[in-house]
Amino acid sequence: MIRMKSFLKSIILPVMAVITMSFANISVSAQDTETKTETTNSVAPAEWLNTFKQTALKEGISEITFDKAFASWEPVEKVLYYDRRQPEFSRTFWGYIERSISKERIERGRRLLKEHKPLLNEVYQKFGVQPRFLVAFWGLETNFGDYTGGFPVVDALATLAHDPRRSEFFTKELLLALQILDQGHIAQDRMLGSWAGAMGQTQFMPSTFTGYAFDGDNDGKKDLWGSLTDVMYSSSNYLSQIGWNKDQTWGREVKLPSNFNYELADLNVQKDLSEWQKLGVRRANGTDLPLVVIDASIVLPAGHKGPAFVVYNNFRKIMIWNRSILYAIAVGHLADQLQGKGGLVAKKPANDKPLHRDEAIALQTALNILGFNAGNPDGILGSKTRAAVKEYQIRNDLPADGYPEASLVERIISEANG
Ligand code: CA
Repeated sequence: MIRMKSFLKSIILPVMAVITMSFANISVSAQDTETKTETTNSVAPAEWLNTFKQTALKEGISEITFDKAFASWEPVEKVLYYDRRQPEFSRTFWGYIERSISKERIERGRRLLKEHKPLLNEVYQKFGVQPRFLVAFWGLETNFGDYTGGFPVVDALATLAHDPRRSEFFTKELLLALQILDQGHIAQDRMLGSWAGAMGQTQFMPSTFTGYAFDGDNDGKKDLWGSLTDVMYSSSNYLSQIGWNKDQTWGREVKLPSNFNYELADLNVQKDLSEWQKLGVRRANGTDLPLVVIDASIVLPAGHKGPAFVVYNNFRKIMIWNRSILYAIAVGHLADQLQGKGGLVAKKPANDKPLHRDEAIALQTALNILGFNAGNPDGILGSKTRAAVKEYQIRNDLPADGYPEASLVERIISEANG
């Protein structure tokens, strides 16, 4: 066995969220992303590699593995392109849901749920994660293993470790990727992933792999590319370790009363279902909420005019896997549909359109001018921008949902210019 210094062990964190951050929607990203800078590393790749090799060997990576992995490495331009790319617009709730929960995906997911029932039941007995959720994650991450990414993971991570923008983070991931190779879980030519190094059928970063991957079929290798048994064992081991509750679902669509205080629609506000019931919250079909004692929050992914959801502990666990509210709703909702439930009761409005990057920057600039701190105007509408929108709404006696819908954006911009 190789020796690993404690810092390598200490970075076993769920980090998949970072990868999808840049695609996050208006109401989605849990944190404002730092403005991307266009710096490049002044240290030549060969020079960087020399220094990094010393680090890797000190961390216990074998020289054979290292030299083989870096035999012909050079920074991958396409990886830097994806890393620098800024989304042109923020996808709306409806745009996101339509894209992630297609009819085809539901039908295929239902077939796969039946086909792999013995494996999924076995995993459920061991880890306590309901089969429909495992299939939902699998479907959303890689379309059930179809798209696991074509970038050699070491090449991609080394490119991002050499690049100064997030070098520290990717250097740690790279060291763990080399450790995974060293341990023989996967051959180097099969270690493919996303441009940012997310690997296999459920897109684990090397740190997630190191912390949670599980050799389900007991062949001595944790193979998240080719062994569905390992894939399902690993996903449920991960979810179970971060606190998944097998006796609960993720949440449900609800209906809010017309006098609802929208400031309560916040993941930081938790109440028992009976309290929400007292406040007039009902199931989407208008009937009473279930009579179970469970802490719940209300989320409004498309503002107060859009659908409302009451969400439970497992919803928060999905958000550890991926820090996006939309992703978490998509996983939960797909899982429900795999089980035979119908679609959302709320309907997509006719005027649903994404906010363009330029409009988002104009909104953030306007909020700053008006004294509501929206942070650096970067066109990515994260939590800071939403908080500023909410402050604006409270100050102006508007429903305080923090959601920048088109007419509100127009109003804020014209007020700042007027
Ligand atoms: Ca295995």
